[in-house]
Amino acid sequence: MQSHDLPTSSDPWAAETLRSFCADVLPALQALPQRAVHNDANEYNVLVIDDEQVTLIDFGDAVTSPRVVGLGVAIAYAMLGQVDPLAAGAAVVGGYHEVAPLHLDELDVLDAVVRTRLAMSVTIAEQQIRDQPDNAAYLGMSQDAIACLAAVLTDIAPALASATYRHACGFIPISAERHIERFFGSAEFDPAPMVAADLSRAQIIDWSAAADRLQEIPQDRPSLGRYGELRTIYDTPAFGTPFEERRTLHLGIDVFVPEGTATRSPLDGVIHSCDIRDQPGDYGGVVIIEYRTPAGPRFWMLVGHLAHASIDALEPGDHIGRGEEFALVGTREENGGWAPHLHVQLFTDLLDQTTELDGVARASQRDVWMSISPNPAPLIAGVDTAAVRAPHKRDAASISGRRRTNLSPSLSLSYAEPLQIVQGDGASLIDAQGRRWIDLVNNVAHVGHEHPRVVDAIAQQARQLNTNTRYLHSNVVDYAQRLAGSFPDPLSVVVLTNSGSEAVDLALRMVRTATAREGVLTLDWGYHGNLSSLIEISPYKFNRAGGSGRSERVRICELPDPYRGDHGADGAAYAIDVARQAADLAAAGLPAAVFVHESISGCGGQVDLAPGYLQAAYAHARDAGALCIADEVQCGLGRVGTDWWAFEAQGVVPDIVTMGKPLGNGHPLGAVITTPQVARAFANGMEYFNTFGGNPVSCAAGLAVLDVIDDQRLRAHASVAGEHLITGLRSLADRHEVIGDVRGRGLFIGVELIDDASTRTPATALTARVVEAVWRRSVLISSDGPHANVLKIKPPLVITTAELDHVVDALDSALGEVADATS
Ligand code: PMP
Repeated sequence: MQSHDLPTSSDPWAAETLRSFCADVLPALQALPQRAVHNDANEYNVLVIDDEQVTLIDFGDAVTSPRVVGLGVAIAYAMLGQVDPLAAGAAVVGGYHEVAPLHLDELDVLDAVVRTRLAMSVTIAEQQIRDQPDNAAYLGMSQDAIACLAAVLTDIAPALASATYRHACGFIPISAERHIERFFGSAEFDPAPMVAADLSRAQIIDWSAAADRLQEIPQDRPSLGRYGELRTIYDTPAFGTPFEERRTLHLGIDVFVPEGTATRSPLDGVIHSCDIRDQPGDYGGVVIIEYRTPAGPRFWMLVGHLAHASIDALEPGDHIGRGEEFALVGTREENGGWAPHLHVQLFTDLLDQTTELDGVARASQRDVWMSISPNPAPLIAGVDTAAVRAPHKRDAASISGRRRTNLSPSLSLSYAEPLQIVQGDGASLIDAQGRRWIDLVNNVAHVGHEHPRVVDAIAQQARQLNTNTRYLHSNVVDYAQRLAGSFPDPLSVVVLTNSGSEAVDLALRMVRTATAREGVLTLDWGYHGNLSSLIEISPYKFNRAGGSGRSERVRICELPDPYRGDHGADGAAYAIDVARQAADLAAAGLPAAVFVHESISGCGGQVDLAPGYLQAAYAHARDAGALCIADEVQCGLGRVGTDWWAFEAQGVVPDIVTMGKPLGNGHPLGAVITTPQVARAFANGMEYFNTFGGNPVSCAAGLAVLDVIDDQRLRAHASVAGEHLITGLRSLADRHEVIGDVRGRGLFIGVELIDDASTRTPATALTARVVEAVWRRSVLISSDGPHANVLKIKPPLVITTAELDHVVDALDSALGEVADATS
């Protein structure tokens, strides 16, 4: 569009919006990404089928244009009739960005595009009505709503709208904030005291629950009112009509000092404006000083509640030196009845305003406003930045919103209605509403969530020392010795890591160094960790969504699944595949360095390997010159009952065992144990250094976990409680045909659900519904396996038999509910 094509409007707002669009926005718009846009996305052009499938209709306005134009049209529609149009706009922007990420330069023009769309609508309707006066009622149908919206938007600064859109996409709302924060952290930043009082001794007033404005405050020392505090006292119409969300979020710091106290500028600056705002609840005498960071971006400090007479002589543009007095603290009478104090607020953007800046904001716009007005504490010498910032707990909705924009979309969430867990206790988790959930998922909180002995051990050691393994410290040696004591000989040499993945990766390096080979024999459906080296050996990852398939140096061995496998419970028969795959690797010139397996397959669906499998498989692997790694990250450390480790029941001794999850009861701790031979072969001159691995705090956690397992006899409990649960679950199988198999050892149990007993067809969809139905009964359970039809049960070992009885009851009624719903 050229400016001479500009439609004219008699509406001054529309005319000015169109003029500024052509002059300021059009040049930038033309450089933005283009695509075919629907250009009329409103609720009348959307078909929703079954609440899920969405289809657009009416492509009569479709054009190729900057895609942000199509988005702007949708936002303009979404805003119509909304009490809070900016929130409606932000929701559309956030949703669009989730699917088609927006660039910052697109977000910068978006507000202007939205306004322009509305101005075009006004202008076009005006022209059409002029041409067809008989049809005025129809042509002007939306004009009242548009006029209302235009009036609301006039009060919303474009910079605020842009900041809101940037925030909806997970970006910093006001980009200058980052420069200013950098300046405050630099050596060049040296603010002079604003007032003579020692504010490091100030008491901090909690105003969040106050019902009234503070009339009196203790005078014996200065006081501070907090930044970021939600204050219900701002309940006058000045802070929002009864139908709107009130502005309650305090954006400044109150500095309570006696009236008449001299107020000084912390830095060299220039007076931006001064004014007297004496409406009830307002600032009284207010001065805004402009400062500049060395890198260029400006920022502003607003100081309110000043003595009116003291600011008379100030003029915008006046220079004000660092430490120079510019005003006095006002009296109670001239500042709306508040006890004498200063309101100090920082601005990273003045939102095109001179003095009409808000000191409190809507809580729903918290992040945006805290970027416009960050914590001003650095400007006020003596104030402790963290102490003066009011604590803030996000609610579930805001956490999930932020997750979508600021966390990787490859992180998943459990349950259709995700939980906000705030506390753990034994085998239970407690959510933000105080509801208790029995946790059958977390095999990390091995000895119980937040076990006091483990927590105390961590805290005590953290208070004393935390460093790396290059100094002598007894914790690391004690822990290695205790851990080694739980293994059969010759497994005796320990290396500590921070995760299961690090442990398996190290084990892989060890076997490759020791054998000078690369090939890997891995069990089907195995998962061994999140590092690149482990995705390569985890069929659960490389053979599923997003995986790039099997690498040349890896071979998959058949999972010896007694329920679904071709050889039933004949372990030796499955193991022949290990010999076959080893030969195949050798034939490809990449002979096997290792046979790696989980001792019970977790991701494979809690599959207890067919009896005799490991003995035969190890024999074949070793015949082929490979070493054997048992990955016990999931199932180890006494979970299976009397045995410490799940491989023991199969009568084998691996060359390396890897451990993780339960070792630190939630503190990051992993380990590798191997034989002296492999350890010696790995020590080829290259140091193994792991900054955090084996630090004294982690070892203290590990030692405490071992103590608790012994003292609370948790291995014996795992056996007894596991048997109890398996009996309960098997009794359910008599009533519920969908239960095809109940299997497991100790507290590592699987329940496989099937649609048809004769064909054992996996009940995949039903399993997902059962997980949700059990959730409605306060029990957390997960599902896995090749067909996602196995309920996985691996709770903290401290789970009581009473809790397990509740689990069986919950499963019983959940299975009944799901069966009723599908029949
Ligand atoms: N091995 C197995 C068998 C696992 O189950 C896991 C984690 N699920 C890992 C290794 C990796 O452990 P981490 O997530 O602690 O790195």
